[in-house]
This record gives sequence, C-alpha cells and structure tokens, in this order.
Amino acid sequence: MEVAPLAPILRLPPEVAERIAAGEVIERPASVVRELIDNAIDAGATEIRVEVRGGGLELIRVSDDGHGIPADQVELAFERHATSKLRVVDDLFRLHTLGFRGEALPSLAAVAEVTMLTRTDDASSGTLLALRAGEVVRRGRAARQRGTTVTVRHLFHPVPARLKFLSAGRAESLLAGQLVRRYALAHPRLRLSLLLDGHLAFQSSGSGTLDGVLAEIYGPAVAAALLRLDAPCSEGASLSGVISGRAVSRANRQHQTLIVNGRPVANRALAAALERAYRPFLPRGRHPIAVVVLHVPPSELDPNVHPAKSEIKLLRETEIAEALARAVREALGSTPVRPAPSDDFSLWPVQYHLPASRSRLGEAGGPGWEAADTEAPPLRAALPLMRIVSQVRRSLILAEGMQGFYLIDQHRAHERILYERLLRGTAGGQPPGQSLLEPLVLELKPHQAASLEERLPFLEGLGLSCERFGGRSFLVRAVPWLPTSENVAPYLQELLEEAALPDDAWRERLLASLACRAAVRRNRPLLPAEMAELLRDLAGTDIPAACPHGSPLILHFSEQFLARQFEW
Ligand code: ADP
Ligand code: MG
Repeated sequence: MEVAPLAPILRLPPEVAERIAAGEVIERPASVVRELIDNAIDAGATEIRVEVRGGGLELIRVSDDGHGIPADQVELAFERHATSKLRVVDDLFRLHTLGFRGEALPSLAAVAEVTMLTRTDDASSGTLLALRAGEVVRRGRAARQRGTTVTVRHLFHPVPARLKFLSAGRAESLLAGQLVRRYALAHPRLRLSLLLDGHLAFQSSGSGTLDGVLAEIYGPAVAAALLRLDAPCSEGASLSGVISGRAVSRANRQHQTLIVNGRPVANRALAAALERAYRPFLPRGRHPIAVVVLHVPPSELDPNVHPAKSEIKLLRETEIAEALARAVREALGSTPVRPAPSDDFSLWPVQYHLPASRSRLGEAGGPGWEAADTEAPPLRAALPLMRIVSQVRRSLILAEGMQGFYLIDQHRAHERILYERLLRGTAGGQPPGQSLLEPLVLELKPHQAASLEERLPFLEGLGLSCERFGGRSFLVRAVPWLPTSENVAPYLQELLEEAALPDDAWRERLLASLACRAAVRRNRPLLPAEMAELLRDLAGTDIPAACPHGSPLILHFSEQFLARQFEW
C-alpha cells in the first residue's frame, strides 16, 4: 500500500459526494474497527493497537503511528464528505487508499462519543477534539507522539433501536477480533494488536509474510500444512494465498478470508467458486480454511457498492472466480494431503515423526508402546504409538498411547487404507482384477455411456474390467482385487455412474466410493489380530487422520482433556 502523502482535507464537491453509496456506514462495532484501521493504514501506520471493551459498545480505541492530522484540520475531518483522499469522481477508479469518501468520522460522531488525539511530525504537541452527538464539546492540546488515537465510547447510545439488535457483546467481540486478524493477513508488515476487555487476544509481529501471520493465527503446524495458491488471472491481476488440504476443515466459513487490494471484504461470486471447487473433497457441512489475496488494477475494482465497505464489486468477477476455482483444484489435486493438528480433539495431533521402516504399533496385548525416535527421521505424518484395548460397539477400536486414548472408526480407517492402495495402483502384489463368476450387464444414461467409454482404460488399470456391450450397456467381467471380505458387486452400477461423472475430480471420487464400498462395515466384530492389522496398515498410509472423503477417523482423548474433565 502506498503511503498517502499529507494531502489537505477538503470538502467533496456535491457532484462527487452524491456518487458515494448511501446508507449506514456504522452498522455494528466491527464497522468502527474497520473504518479506524482503514484510516490508520491510509496514514502510513506501521503499528496499530485496537482495544475493544464490552463488545465494542462500551469502548473501541484505535491508536496508530501514522502521519497524523494537522491541528487546523482536525475539526474538518469530522465534517461529512471531507477527505484528503478523493477529489474528483474519476479518483474512485484509481484509488490507492482504503478510505475515499470522508464519511467514517462524521458517521461515528453521530452515534457515539468520540475523542481524537492526533499529532503530525512538525507539531509540538497533540491536538485533542471531543465530540458528542456530532457536536464538538472539547478542544485542547495534549502530549502525544506522532500518530492518531481515536476513542469511541457508548456506541449507539443515541440510537437505542440499533442497540437492541446488538445485545450479545461476545458475538460482537468475536466479529471485531475476526476482522482484526483479517487485516493482519491483508497487511503482513503491520504490527497489529488486539486487546479484548483488557486481555491481549491477538498480536501480529509485522513479519512481512503471509506465512508469518498465518502461523501467528493458526499456529505453525496448521500454517505449514496449508497449500499455496498462486495463479495469474487477467492482465495486471494476481491471485495468491493459501487453502487447507482435505484433512483440515472447519464447521463454518469464518476461516475464509478474501483480501482485494488490501481490503478484507466479502464477495459472493468468489466465495461460491471456492466452495464449489472443494465440494468433491470435503464432507457436507465442512468448510476449508482459505486466505485468498487478490490484486487487481484499481480501475477494475469498485469499493463504493456498500456503505460499510464490507463488499466490493469486481469488473472481471466471473473470470477471477474461474481462476480461483482452477487454482484451488490444482492445489488440491497436485499436493499430497497432510493432516494437521487441530485444537479441537476430533483429529489426533501429529506429534510423532517416526522412520517409515519402524513399526509404530505395539502388538495387541503385547509389550505396549516404545518411545518415539527423535533423531531426524523423515517428516511424514505418523500414528502415535498405541496399544489396542478392545473393540467398542463393534465399530470402533479403542487403543491407548502415551498421550491418552484413541477411538478409531474401523470403517473409515479401512477406507483410507484401501483408497491409498487404489491410488498407488497396487493391490498388494495380487493380480489387479478379480473375475466375477458371472459377468454383469449394466445400463447407463446416454451421456454417461459416452464419458464412461473414454475412461474404460483407467478402470481396466484398476482391475475393473468393463467393455461396451452395445448401446448404453456395459459388461463388467472383473472387479478390483482388494483385501476385503465385503462384496462390491452390488454397487457396480453406482460405481460406473461415479466413473462417468462430468466432474474433473471423477477419479478421486470413484476411488473413494470404491474404497467405501469395499471397506469393512461398522457393526462387524473384529478379532484382535484383525484390529492390529488394520492399525498397522493405517499407520502405513500417508494421511492416517482422515477418510478419503475428508472426515476425521480418529478421536483423541488427551491426558489434558481427561484431567480437565475429571478435575484430576
Ligand atoms: P476517509 O477516510 O474516507 O477520507 P474519514 O471520515 O475516515 O474519511 O476521515 C476523514 C479524513 O481524516 C481522512 O481523509 C484523513 O485525512 C483524516 N484521518 C482520519 N483518520 C486519520 C488517521 N488515523 N491518521 C491520519 N489522518 C486521518
Ligand atoms: Mg476513513
């Protein structure tokens, strides 16, 4: 972001002012945080401190070390449509600042008690201005270093109707906190801190890289497990960022951030493109972590479509949405999936990195676990050492390890094992196909038949031997050989339809369905030796934490969790 020169604040001429999107600038506490951070960034701040109390309704204070406002212009800054950033209508399409319309400070002063203390480099002290109901109630001078502090108290007290909608202070704090983190992601060089009710809730160090900020938000392990996005799109535009792989997901969309020219914003078309690209890879109701950083020429961006600046319009929206979907599919399709530790206990933490050659599992009823090797073993996700205790509900394997105990979903574990075998195209050295006693004839819809026919060589390579049998019919002679006692023949129709999907991800979906149909069901008793084999094979997979559809397959009850729950 370019540092705005110290241009004077001027009132916009009426023909410019009337082009500004009308409506409520300050919708909720997070809008205040947005406007004040925008102002600080526009002033060239390197450090911004945000303080929020009582969900922002009690107090919001934003301090920056930017260039400040000259003493004789401070009052003018609180007039409507008075700005140092925009002069003529055309400036709207060559903006290098986040603010542009001179509405934030006056709108804020109308709905709260506002105090500003600001000092420029050449002033001998700071200028203080306090406003109530939009009127100046105090002018003065006070000591301050270069920069600006805006304090907002009793937000919406003059508008009781608005207050009624904002009863839950905690929810407002969360939203404000989320926005501050998004600004940190958008401006990695910035040192941003957030104090929530007196406690330091977040701090970015100004490392200068997106990776650095991601580690500060999600922890280094999750940050390292994220996949890089990089895609040139239309001329002069670039798209970068990170997305989570298939093994890391969240129950809501709050971890998706879109940054356009330094603005954390919402955009429906891009959000939809992201979700669509993930659909084949994540179970329903799960959402990726994503930070999408888009740069477009200012002439292709209209930030003036929403009074609270939370949405933007892109000139080449469809094209950029497609580039995003493509980049996501490529990143997901070409990167081996790695599970990452999670702060909830539904995915086991990756703590052990053992050489692949070493057995990671104690035998059932055997001597138990051994200590993990710590010398520089290959970095691959490995199962913790564990000892099988028993089968629970004929569906789950109960095992214990040094870090607590684990429940492993037998069906999903087997799915993962079979899926990776299919992916590698090996079926344990056995001939790839297993002939059916009686070949089966199956019929597909005309459009499915055409695409299936093209894909028959791929199916053959899997051991699914199938040929066109006239018209829309196909003759299946053999099914893939898989180490399983489940019969996949009843599901052949469904599998062939999967193989005929018009989707780019048809291969992965077919393999996932095949693995699902062949995997040992829940509600099947397992012998200790069978459970041991299952866990040993699972330990040999690349992603032992998630089934091929992305659902977790191991629950970890850590020592800490047990101690907390039992109050030991
Ligand atoms: P806008 O940002 O759209 O110009 P605002 O009402 O937010 O409108 O601010 C009005 C003017 O006050 C800005 O144009 C800028 O010159 C000045 N200003 C506001 N906040 C700051 C700040 N933190 N540091 C320096 N100048 C500021
Ligand atoms: Mg502003």
